[in-house]
Amino acid sequence: MKKQNISDAVIRRLPRYYRHLNDLCAKGVVRISSHSLGLKMDITASQIRQDFSCFGEFGQQGYGYNVEELRAEIGHILGVDQDHHLIVIGVGNLGHALIQNFRFAQSGFTVDAAFDVSPQVVGTTLNNIPVLPMDSLEDYVKVHKIDVVVLTVPKAAVQDIVDRLTQLGIRGFWNFTNIELEAKDPEVKIENIHFSDSLLTLSYRIANN
Ligand code: ATP
Repeated sequence: MKKQNISDAVIRRLPRYYRHLNDLCAKGVVRISSHSLGLKMDITASQIRQDFSCFGEFGQQGYGYNVEELRAEIGHILGVDQDHHLIVIGVGNLGHALIQNFRFAQSGFTVDAAFDVSPQVVGTTLNNIPVLPMDSLEDYVKVHKIDVVVLTVPKAAVQDIVDRLTQLGIRGFWNFTNIELEAKDPEVKIENIHFSDSLLTLSYRIANN
C-alpha cells in the first residue's frame, strides 16, 4: 500500500470510515459500493474514491469493496493493529469515567496504568488498572513502552506534565483539559478534545434551523 502525503481532512475521515465498516461487518455485509457507503456516511462516492486512492487501490471499479478487507486496511492505516499502550494522568471524574467506560481496546490501545497525586485514589485499581503515584511517573515511563498519555488533570497542571513526558520521549497526548495545547516538537502529536465544540455546533444548527 502506497501512502502519499495525506491531508488532515482525509485523516479525520478515516476513523469514520473505520467505524462504519465495523458496523457493516457486524451486520454481516460482505460487499459495499462507494455509492452505498457514501449514502450511509453522507459524503459523495467520488469523495470516498478520492480518499481511498491516497492509499492505493482498495476496490475494483464497478464491483465495490470487500467490507472486511477494507475494514482491515483502514484499521491498519490507523494503527489499530499496532498494539499501542497508554497511561491516564488524573483520575478525577473524567479520568475515572474514561478508564471505566471507554473501549480503548477497540481502537487498538491497552491501558497500562493511571497516575494521580491524590492519596484518595493512589493505590487503588480501576477496571484492573493500577493508580500509581505521580512521583513514580518518570521511572515508569522509562521502563514501559508508552505511546500515548491521556491528560485528565486540572488545567494548571497540564503543561508541566506534558513537558516532563515529552522529555522522556512520549509522542502522543490525548488532552481533555480544555486547554489548547500546542506541540513544541513536530514529532509530538496532540489531540485537544473540547466537548463544547461539538455541543456548540449543535447549538448553531438548532438556532439556525
Ligand atoms: P474532572 O471532572 O475534570 O476529572 P475533578 O473535579 O474530578 O475534575 P480535577 O480537580 O480536575 O478533578 O482533578 C482531576 C484529577 O487530577 C484529580 O484526581 C486530581 O487529584 C488529579 N491531579 C491534580 N493535580 C495533578 C497533578 N499535578 N498530577 C497528577 N494528577 C493530578
